[in-house]
Amino acid sequence: MVHRLEREGLIALDERKEVHLTKTGKRHADSIVRRHRLAERFLVEVLGFEWWKTHEEAERLEHAMSAEMEQRIQNVLGDPQTCPHGNPMPGVTGRPTKPLERVLPGATATIERIPDQFEHEPGFLEYLDSQGLRPGVELAVVDLRHGEPIRVRVDGAERTIRADCGQKVWVRA
Ligand SMILES: [Zn+2]
Ligand SMILES: [Zn+2]
Repeated sequence: MVHRLEREGLIALDERKEVHLTKTGKRHADSIVRRHRLAERFLVEVLGFEWWKTHEEAERLEHAMSAEMEQRIQNVLGDPQTCPHGNPMPGVTGRPTKPLERVLPGATATIERIPDQFEHEPGFLEYLDSQGLRPGVELAVVDLRHGEPIRVRVDGAERTIRADCGQKVWVRA
């Protein structure tokens, strides 16, 4: 695998045999990420998929998408800046965010994104949705102690959510 990617000029090995992306490799990686995020948007906005269901579907679609299809989807969707989980398209500078656990009790915050690595976690996005938590939703932190379930107020109702939401839900204050 490494040798194939090296032959195609996508990666290079340095003198310590560590792998680096070349400029071409970086472009290639960016393009896959862009296709993935566009596919997720397409699934939500055109096909009516629930936001928490799109990641797996998009993993299949991203490999089937030509450059022309990528461009057309981007146009149809009006050049979206993020995926439905709030993660910016490559080249787009996202707004400053921090993990929920860094919000002080009593403060309010808006959910901005669920970082990429947590999109994969089976059941996690669906869990958030079941608690009324998704990008764009405003919440108030009622009580937050490290490693313990977190009490928040969402849409006028108080809820206790899983402790791991503290690291996996990113907000802007
Ligand atoms: Zn995804
Ligand atoms: Zn996403």
